[in-house]
Amino acid sequence: MTEAVFQRCIHPQCGTTVSLEDTSFQCPKCTGLLDVAYDWDRLPVPKSLKEFEKKWSNRTNKLDFSGVWRFRELLPFARPEQIMTIGEGQTILLPSDQVATYVGLNPGNLFLQYEGMNPSGSFKDNGMTAAFSHARSVGARRAACASTGNTSAALSIYCAATDLMRAIIFIGSGKISYGKLSQALEHGALTIQIAGDFDDALQRVQQVSRQLGIYLVNSINPFRLEGQKTIMYRIIEALNWEVPDWIVVPGGNLGNCSAFGKAFIELKELGLVDRIPRLAVINAAGAHTFYELYEKQKLRWNNGSPDFKVVDSYMKVMDAGNLRANTLASAIEINRPVNLPKALRALDRCSGVVREVNDQEILDAKAKVGSGGLGCEPASAASVAGLKKLVQEGIVSPGDRVACVLTAHLLKDPDATVAYHSADPKTFEEKLGKRGVRRAGFPNRAVQVSNDLDEIIKAIEVYS
Ligand SMILES: *Cc1c(COP(=O)(O)O)cnc(C)c1O
Ligand SMILES: [Zn+2]
Repeated sequence: MTEAVFQRCIHPQCGTTVSLEDTSFQCPKCTGLLDVAYDWDRLPVPKSLKEFEKKWSNRTNKLDFSGVWRFRELLPFARPEQIMTIGEGQTILLPSDQVATYVGLNPGNLFLQYEGMNPSGSFKDNGMTAAFSHARSVGARRAACASTGNTSAALSIYCAATDLMRAIIFIGSGKISYGKLSQALEHGALTIQIAGDFDDALQRVQQVSRQLGIYLVNSINPFRLEGQKTIMYRIIEALNWEVPDWIVVPGGNLGNCSAFGKAFIELKELGLVDRIPRLAVINAAGAHTFYELYEKQKLRWNNGSPDFKVVDSYMKVMDAGNLRANTLASAIEINRPVNLPKALRALDRCSGVVREVNDQEILDAKAKVGSGGLGCEPASAASVAGLKKLVQEGIVSPGDRVACVLTAHLLKDPDATVAYHSADPKTFEEKLGKRGVRRAGFPNRAVQVSNDLDEIIKAIEVYS
């Protein structure tokens, strides 16, 4: 008898299955990506999503306290005693009329899913707890990732808090923000800085992990994506189990959008939701591979056989011109998204769209999110900037209900924020102007006064 939980090639024509314990995260037959797959008939699945609400009354159970594991029946790959949780997923969905007005939605229709509240400050913890639990179940002693910063922060914190594994992180040189680097260093990760960018680091970490038998926690790891499905469960839970019209998410390596698609495909299959939301993935204009391939070249999932020749020739052109990803939204500064096929599947099932937004649009949207009361890093605000575009285009209507995912906390990357609000044109030019940002649309300038009581009082009266 086969197991009820296993890994399976995402391409239905191949469909090769691999055991739950396998850690190569690649189809042995066609080298495609793998899914964590479930034979739901043999697993205890709740009859209604409402059953999850009961877990709120049992918050002393650490699995019920976790915003990921209280949904464990929907990601049932780990035995409870294997699960490592540090209280991730305690995040909220907040309505924001200020931001709704900015993007052109009717008041009451925009919700911001604030993943900055996670232990390491980004949504990555949702996935890390899942991958980490799998790593533990296979007896891993070392875990590695390439990172623009948030994956490495998440891995570092799980390793440090549980003392079960050594974190080994690969970062591109000069590419990581201080907020994120400080987390890796403080939490004791072995930090390998490569002369190259994220795309280089990801290729290297895969080679090294294979050669040294180190457990890989990049989002090519399908267990990570299982944890990230729960972001969608929490959104619909906060909406009293009503599915919104749209989910909007920034796209980097495309793990999140892939996980969101899988979450809804499964919920629909299980009869736990009656419809699936549309999915909008937002690229930064300086790292817009997915936008180009999906919107311009019309690359599609095509029942599991995307035209990989289109992808290959796109990558060849990129390599020939040595075109490197370049955006202030460093968390999505990625030109070779590893989860591309899974993302195509997600957009296929969710009637998805992809848009690109430039750094100017991202920083202005971020300032609006901030003045509305939530602090996020630049990449997160791509979702809001992209939504604004989709409303302008008439793809999203003002009456649609939309949830934007704010992927990480403001303090992850305060550099661009301070420069944006700076009154000093030199600081602005140095940090932002050089990268194509012309002006701060919504600046909040610090007021300079001499150390003199009258001057200070005068400044307060004038400016408040
Ligand atoms: C990782 C990350 C992203 C990109 O998510 P993908 O799953 O790689 O598409 C976006 N925003 C932030 C803040 C991130 O850390
Ligand atoms: Zn395969």
